[in-house]
Amino acid sequence: MTGQPPTAIDTSKPHPARMYDWYLGGKDNYPVDEEMGRQMLALDPRVPVMARVNRAFMHRATRWLAGNGIRQFLDIGTGIPTEPNLHQVAQKITPDARVVYCDNDPIVLAHAAALLRGTPEGVTEYLQADVRDPDAIVEGAKKVLDFTEPVALSLIALLHFVSDEEGAHDLVRRLLAELPSGSYLVMTHATSDFTPEESRAATEKMKAAGVTLALRSREEFTRFFDGLDLVEPGVQVPHQWHPELGEPVPGQDDGVIPGYGAVGRKR
Ligand code: SAH
Repeated sequence: MTGQPPTAIDTSKPHPARMYDWYLGGKDNYPVDEEMGRQMLALDPRVPVMARVNRAFMHRATRWLAGNGIRQFLDIGTGIPTEPNLHQVAQKITPDARVVYCDNDPIVLAHAAALLRGTPEGVTEYLQADVRDPDAIVEGAKKVLDFTEPVALSLIALLHFVSDEEGAHDLVRRLLAELPSGSYLVMTHATSDFTPEESRAATEKMKAAGVTLALRSREEFTRFFDGLDLVEPGVQVPHQWHPELGEPVPGQDDGVIPGYGAVGRKR
């Protein structure tokens, strides 16, 4: 158990949600986030493109899932609202889709109202909870989602903030264990595979600022999908997963995007 997530915004150290907002050109970030963001850019200038590529993966994966009959979504590590949000993508295809969002950062809570504007037929809900406390998430999500029907569990650009010591793989297994056959796991994750030196430097800088960065290899990423059937085309760099379901992000082809994305189905 990690206890209740904090509700006060702490501007003394960088926060992933606010750094991500800065990469995307948003306004919900503080000097400490921008400072660390600039340090990350100095190591790899593709970071803003990576953020957009990641967002675009979420859109395409959500379209694929809604198109394949999924009507319930549990999105953990939602981030600061950025249009279109997951529920808007899902409810465009399936107006009565039900979506539960979850994040542990107080700044996401502060903006949660923007995540709750769904279609009249659909439902969107926001839970302030920590992925390291899966029991609390399941308990909250069950008030909105029917856990006897398939659920898409999306952990997008989240688990590289959760270390092995904190049990990253185990908590995914615990969440999946609650979901019925036909449910899906949707993930992206940053990797050190393509840029080991820069990744090491990034991990150290983030650690010095009090933020855990747990970049994983392709093998470690793939292990999150153990026991699931990977949807074609399997584990890919994110922009190569079903590119036909969206528009390319400007700049995405300038070299390899150092991350992986995949969708797996529970048997
Ligand atoms: N999924 C979004 C945002 C990714 S940024 C997208 O892909 O566009 C990562 C998000 O994970 C941030 O909003 C951060 O606050 C959240 N996060 C990090 N650690 C978390 C934890 N332990 N529990 C819940 N959310 C967490």
